[in-house]
Amino acid sequence: MEFKRLRLSGFKSFVEPAELRIEPGLTGVVGPNGCGKSNLLEAIRWVMGENSPKSLRSGGMEDVIFAGTESRPPRDFAEVQLSAADDDGDELEVLRRVERGAGSAYRLNGKDVRAKDVALTFADAATGAHSPALVSQGKIAQVIAAKPTVRRQMLEEAAGISGLHVRRKDAEQKLRATETNLARLEDIMAGLD
Ligand code: ATP
Repeated sequence: MEFKRLRLSGFKSFVEPAELRIEPGLTGVVGPNGCGKSNLLEAIRWVMGENSPKSLRSGGMEDVIFAGTESRPPRDFAEVQLSAADDDGDELEVLRRVERGAGSAYRLNGKDVRAKDVALTFADAATGAHSPALVSQGKIAQVIAAKPTVRRQMLEEAAGISGLHVRRKDAEQKLRATETNLARLEDIMAGLD
């Protein structure tokens, strides 16, 4: 998958609509302290379904909305749109929006979808909110110091097989439900004998 463009509006410090083209190859974000470098990475993670307060450096869901400054009122919503091309070159457009008091909603290529659909789309493509392709400050040292199990997770994501874990979990749940049904059926049949 190749990321092409990021649009932000009302997301954290990006109060005005902003658009960034993401060129092929490695992209680095540089700038003075507090200018919003980490907020950009968080926007990419957020649009791909991230909710963890730790990786978003926020408390609640609405904390990603521009909170206002001394000279600017707060915003009512935050919106991030990520345009990408999948491995077949097909265009992919994901939009996530959170509104105060109204929760978070996703659109994939213009259609309303569930968070799970977005997560699966990116997990299958070896990208996703936890992708090792998104390297935040301090991450390099973390990779070097990581435990083997954590490194294995990174390799699985890079190899594009982490989406299979989600599917496997789903399949195992269905299997367990079917086994329970079968056991009940056997009980009923035993009662009929
Ligand atoms: P550093 O190099 O110091 O890590 P940075 O360039 O990565 O900085 P960020 O951490 O991305 O900068 O941005 C921090 C700025 O974003 C702070 O000024 C903070 O006040 C602002 N900010 C974060 N969340 C919000 C929000 N919800 N509303 C308004 N501003 C916000």
